[in-house]
Amino acid sequence: MGSKEAPYKPYRIKVVEPITLLARTQREQRIKEAYYNVFNLHAKDIYVDLLTDSGTGAMSQEQWAAMMRGDESYAGSRSFSRFEAAVSDIFGFEYLLPTHQGRAAENVLFSAMIKPGDIVPNNMHFDTTRANVLANGGKPVDLVIEEAFEPRKVLPFKGNMDTDRLLSLIEDVGPERIPLIMMTITNNSCGGQPVSLSNLRAVSKIARAHNIPFFIDACRFAENAFFIHEREEGYHEVAPIEIAREIFSLADGITMSAKKDGLVNIGGILAMNDAAIFAATRERLILMEGFPTYGGLAGRDLEAIAVGLYEALDLDYLRDRIGQACYLGEGLKKEGIPIVEPIGGHAVYIDALTLLPGFPQKEFPALSFAVELYVEAGVRAVEVGSVMFAQKDAKGNEIYPKLELVRLAIPRRMYTREHLNTVIGGAAAIAKRKGTLPGYRIVEGEGPLRHFIARFEPIPRN
Ligand SMILES: *Cc1c(COP(=O)(O)O)cnc(C)c1O
Repeated sequence: MGSKEAPYKPYRIKVVEPITLLARTQREQRIKEAYYNVFNLHAKDIYVDLLTDSGTGAMSQEQWAAMMRGDESYAGSRSFSRFEAAVSDIFGFEYLLPTHQGRAAENVLFSAMIKPGDIVPNNMHFDTTRANVLANGGKPVDLVIEEAFEPRKVLPFKGNMDTDRLLSLIEDVGPERIPLIMMTITNNSCGGQPVSLSNLRAVSKIARAHNIPFFIDACRFAENAFFIHEREEGYHEVAPIEIAREIFSLADGITMSAKKDGLVNIGGILAMNDAAIFAATRERLILMEGFPTYGGLAGRDLEAIAVGLYEALDLDYLRDRIGQACYLGEGLKKEGIPIVEPIGGHAVYIDALTLLPGFPQKEFPALSFAVELYVEAGVRAVEVGSVMFAQKDAKGNEIYPKLELVRLAIPRRMYTREHLNTVIGGAAAIAKRKGTLPGYRIVEGEGPLRHFIARFEPIPRN
């Protein structure tokens, strides 16, 4: 929908990072040694790494040049001034603090704002956001529109919040129990789906009418601005930076992982307009991250963010970026591989339950596909299914998630079409022999974070 393939590549390669494609027998050996968990693989044994788009992208020559200007003074560095100028120019908030990454901004903010028993609505909490609300005694509530859960329902803004549900929640619990309302753009947990400006306006209006602070989780704000540029009426001629400014004019503050649309390998941002929230968070920041002008980062990191935020808003960059996700997703569809639609901003999700009908969820179909993709093509993807989300109910019965997905997240400015073709070709080869994929059982590892550490063994098909 909407976004087309990139018309051209707005950069060429200057620094080369060698990667290797091991022989198939070696890949079979490596994944066995990793106990069939891709988190245990060594990066050197991977050809195309689509584990995550967080902090994995390539920096530009301007960013590397800016890093040489890094001022490592403990307080009041020149680098902080440049970071401050860029963040104020784009986001427009009165106060800002650097953090070492997104989850630190979340913890600093929530520890200053949330009291035990409070409720935090969001279109959909990202997992660290949810965990930080819980860790500070709050209850995270997801109010994304119903259609977000239908994998083949095509909507332009599938990441939107259901504002009726927001209003009834405020009515039910009372605004005094809601310390802040959040919106995540793009909506990562439902597949990198964008949120419309009109939805952001509606949520902002509700928050203001009830005197509740409104914060945006801005990790992929530039990608979201691009989708508004492409899909929302009246914005096709408006530059992404202007759209971004309009988005943030609706909010009272942001948390952000600069490892996404800051185009850097490490960093985060917390910003707001309220002086009292700033005073409280600044105090928490000094305790948890560092002095307010560096917040857990080196001066050179602040420099790289100051440049990266602008590069992320460049229309040619965004066309290429979103175009890569489209190219990969459309390529898979042409091979008859079902994916979650519409294709989102930063990743493509293979729908393993539809691809592998009859494959029992208790034998982890999406994990099986991800293991096979490494063996077939040297590609690392990640399971987003029963390994990650299955839970036991009160009687000890296993409750399986509605979807079994294989996520292919695309690092920024990193891979070429050849690499993406390898992914498509590998997935197509597996689809052709899908009846032969083994199931897996867990031999070690439990709990909500088991996907990072669990060990598996294949259950041979007879
Ligand atoms: C990555 C991410 C975070 C957390 O940021 P980290 O830098 O990984 O701590 C929070 N929210 C969203 C939507 C994210 O994608």
